[in-house]
Amino acid sequence: VNVLPSRLPRTADIAVIGAGLAGLRAAITLADHGYPPLLLCKGRLLHCGSSFCNRNGRWGYTFAADEEEQEQLFATIQRISRGTNDARLSRLLVEESSTRLEELRQWGVQFRADDTGALLRSPACFHPRPVAAILEDMAQLRACCLRRLLRRPPLVLDRVEVTELLVRGKRLRGLRLRRGNDAGELAVRAAVLACGGDGACCRPNMVETGLTGDGYRLLQQAGVMLHNMACHQAAWEDIDPTAPRFQLPMLWDPRYRLLAADGSPICLPPPGTELAKARLEHVPISNLQEDRLCDEALLRHIPSGSPDSAVRVLDLAGGRVVHRIMPHVMCCNGGVLIAPDGATPVAGLYAAGEVATGMHGGDRVGGLMITATQVFGRRAALGALDFLKMTRTASASKFRQYHGSEGP
Ligand SMILES: Cc1cc2nc3c(=O)[nH]c(=O)nc-3n(C[C@H](O)[C@H](O)[C@H](O)COP(=O)(O)OP(=O)(O)OC[C@H]3O[C@@H](n4cnc5c(N)ncnc54)[C@H](O)[C@@H]3O)c2cc1C
Repeated sequence: VNVLPSRLPRTADIAVIGAGLAGLRAAITLADHGYPPLLLCKGRLLHCGSSFCNRNGRWGYTFAADEEEQEQLFATIQRISRGTNDARLSRLLVEESSTRLEELRQWGVQFRADDTGALLRSPACFHPRPVAAILEDMAQLRACCLRRLLRRPPLVLDRVEVTELLVRGKRLRGLRLRRGNDAGELAVRAAVLACGGDGACCRPNMVETGLTGDGYRLLQQAGVMLHNMACHQAAWEDIDPTAPRFQLPMLWDPRYRLLAADGSPICLPPPGTELAKARLEHVPISNLQEDRLCDEALLRHIPSGSPDSAVRVLDLAGGRVVHRIMPHVMCCNGGVLIAPDGATPVAGLYAAGEVATGMHGGDRVGGLMITATQVFGRRAALGALDFLKMTRTASASKFRQYHGSEGP
């Protein structure tokens, strides 16, 4: 699948930028419609991005199995977003979540299931019911994606970085590419931007080193406004990645005491209070909910953000510090606000995955980012395809007007 021409290509009808789950879904959708795109990816194919390089080695896919679940999930999105989402996009996300999951399963992607093959669903942060299908085998995911790509292979260029969107008259004309010391311009008619987030720019973080927010920078350089960019998702983790995993309930476990770096005790809202109970319903620190106060009680003790100032978790029985914790960034809930077909304000440029927003707001139900890669990766591909056909028709009709015939 990996065709690496000695020189960078000069033209392509459609390019997909990024080969995480959003980019792959877009590329596969385009290929299925007879338009295998040029798939560009800064990292190594199937070994880059949060979709494939996930420190947890697993992820959850949240979906609504029926109309009742759709309503419940939509209500939670609306409640936690507090007006920072686009309700139409959130509806689409929920309504199409199940069909896209079924397609992944048809590709052979395996999720945790019982002996009868029925999916075993886990709780999703912020939502009161278990709605997440769990994928635990990244190698199996890679194999399925590769098999699916090989059915109608796109031209894949990995280790190629898109460094600029070439926009004239608010329309995408091309991309500037770089591979090692080689650089060039690629003329495109349309593109799907699926570059993931900017977690690698935050310290500490849990993401692959290549996720430096290139998509956001490319969009900003092209004059596109971004939304909810202050709303990262970060979880309390031990600063030593080899340490046993810190468990959130330890914050209120009477067997432990929380200490600042100078040894002074840290007080949280008491256990059992509404704030404490709400906080335990989600792993990442919320951006918009009141229970953020619990995290702020800890955060004010690490103002420098330096690992030296990490919060200590003291095991009272053993008399030793068992964890030194700080918030670790996993992803960003902000990005470019897209239309239902993935369109951005730049004609010909579509976006999906972590680089896009609107389907969720500054806080997000757990497992819905992966769902968004599938729902909007497909939608962005179809949007780009429509654009391609539309501009072709438009140029053909101009040709007819000018020449009075169909032309060659
Ligand atoms: C530890 C961890 C656990 C998570 N758990 C969950 C979970 O359980 N459920 C959930 O919904 N979400 C989860 N997330 C978030 C989710 O994994 C990501 O938001 C999602 O995978 C993003 O997919 P994507 O396709 O948009 O981007 P990515 O998978 O990050 O892929 C980005 C792609 O863009 C490429 N790229 C970047 N810049 C350029 C450039 N300039 N030129 C060319 N290519 C470029 C990269 O090489 C890569 O191929 C988790 C994240 C982390 C880090």
